[in-house]
Amino acid sequence: MANPVLPSSGVLSPLGLDAVRLNPGFWGDRAALNREVTIAHCQEWEEREGWIGNFRGERPRRGREFSDSETYKLLEAMAWADHPALPALAETVAQAQEGDGYLNTRWSGSRYTDFEWGHELYCYGHLIQAGVARLRMHGEDRLTQVAIKAADHVCRRFMEGTRTCGHPVIEMALVELYRVTGTERYLEMARRFVERRGLPALADIPFGRAYFQDDMPVRQAQVFRGHVVRALYLASGVVDVAVETGDQELLKAVEAQWERTVARRTHLTGGMGSRHIDESYGDDYELPPDRAYNETCASIASIMLAHRLLLATGDARYADLAERTLYNMLATGVALDGRSFFYANPLQVRVPAVPLEGVNHAAEGGLRSPWFDVSCCPHNIARTLASLPAYLATSSADGIQIHHPTPSEIRHGGLAVRVETGYPWAGSVTVRVLEGGEGRIGLRVPAWATDATLAHVPASSPESPLPEGPVIRPVDPGYAYVDGPWQAGDEIRLELPMAPRWTLPDRRIDALRGSAAVERGPLVYCAESVGDEPRLGDLTARVLPPEEREADGVVELEVAASLRSGDGDGWPYAPADGRADESAEPTDVTLRLVPYHRWGNRGPATMRVWLPIQEK
Ligand SMILES: [Zn+2]
Repeated sequence: MANPVLPSSGVLSPLGLDAVRLNPGFWGDRAALNREVTIAHCQEWEEREGWIGNFRGERPRRGREFSDSETYKLLEAMAWADHPALPALAETVAQAQEGDGYLNTRWSGSRYTDFEWGHELYCYGHLIQAGVARLRMHGEDRLTQVAIKAADHVCRRFMEGTRTCGHPVIEMALVELYRVTGTERYLEMARRFVERRGLPALADIPFGRAYFQDDMPVRQAQVFRGHVVRALYLASGVVDVAVETGDQELLKAVEAQWERTVARRTHLTGGMGSRHIDESYGDDYELPPDRAYNETCASIASIMLAHRLLLATGDARYADLAERTLYNMLATGVALDGRSFFYANPLQVRVPAVPLEGVNHAAEGGLRSPWFDVSCCPHNIARTLASLPAYLATSSADGIQIHHPTPSEIRHGGLAVRVETGYPWAGSVTVRVLEGGEGRIGLRVPAWATDATLAHVPASSPESPLPEGPVIRPVDPGYAYVDGPWQAGDEIRLELPMAPRWTLPDRRIDALRGSAAVERGPLVYCAESVGDEPRLGDLTARVLPPEEREADGVVELEVAASLRSGDGDGWPYAPADGRADESAEPTDVTLRLVPYHRWGNRGPATMRVWLPIQEK
């Protein structure tokens, strides 16, 4: 079972890379580009920057204190992609492991002297995840030996005591290693790391202990807080521990934290993170579009958590957020050529970025960069796209469920189906049975799809020609089911309404008041201005039905707007009882909107998702 997450219990079981195969399409194309371009791109840059050389003992050591973790994420991507470069890279890593299993190119010689910032257990977490991927895709080899030896070292060194790591990830890694090996001490070690956090387990730091979720025990928290990637990796590990130990209280705690975070601390794109200074969540409703941080890794961590909660509960809300995040964050994080990446993903960019050659030393969004001083995001994209089929469909005792329709083939329990769709551009999804079998087939109907219909079209045969054609019925958001048994040629046709829709923000989100955004299907749209195109700050959009325009298979939109330029540079405020000085007459213009995930591919640009609208 080739899955990054394989719980031993839960409402749904994931179908892995051995059961789901992507065909050319929105995600199949991206997965192919990832396998053919992005993985090699990451390896080339890691060599150039000396991060792989660190494992060969090259001095001076280069890269940040946690750069080993990037090599491990790359190994995980290679494992899922069955990439031929894996064995040699694994051998290089293995050379640096010490006799007792310790492995870290930065802290060797001064091990475990900085739990707050040292990232040693964090690095092991990524190494173990790579090892799990290799075990499931290939079986034992050098990489899996190194990972298990490191995990055994961690258990010996940390089973007793009060310490944990300033950056979570080891928790979910150890649970997954338990799932694949059956060795219970890995689960127990993960459980202890979870329970230690917040007692506290770490020293106080200028950002405060909430930064690494050490401000209170995880069971007492009401909401995700602090550094977003840390918070979501931890929550993913907590769900894994809760599921494997049967700890319902712990699972319920994370569900409640997720619910409040989605209600109050999540951007329209699914991105999370409102503060740059410590890469953290803001307060409730602190969701500024221009200062949004929305690290690409945070969105991947959010997909990982949503997937775990979906498997545990079967609740469609988790798949809904995963879809929003897949199409508007994961797809945004990498350029169409697979060689440059966003780290931060704001919803408004006021000043076009200055093109940059080489390493980007900052995380600001504006133009995708080929590499960063901290290159977590490119590697996280690579490992996620390489394992993406495992996130798309699940099974249960009564059949299969398709959560994310994309061209693919799915096999389970004798049943084989092909998913044919132009989604997310078109709303028609056809599930065609290739090999018949038992069980009901479930299709997720997204929360925004309030007028969806479903048709069951049995294969016609000489004995039973279709008497009156297919029966079409309306279906509500959630899951729509069709019962078997199935024979080859049977079809299910789901029609999702794809009309563009205007979206208004909650009035408590101060930074968005007076604005609206446009969505179509699962995609968030944005206005992008390149070169001489209108200045986005001078536009006011009209909330009228957008026009659709298709170009090269991509649906763009046009909305009516008024453009007012030429305002003076005086004091930008006025008395409440006075009249604003509108010296320039507005002119009518048409504003072109592109899918947010495609912005920034035409060169330096300004951009905004939330458009000012005429207030009544
Ligand atoms: Zn990152």
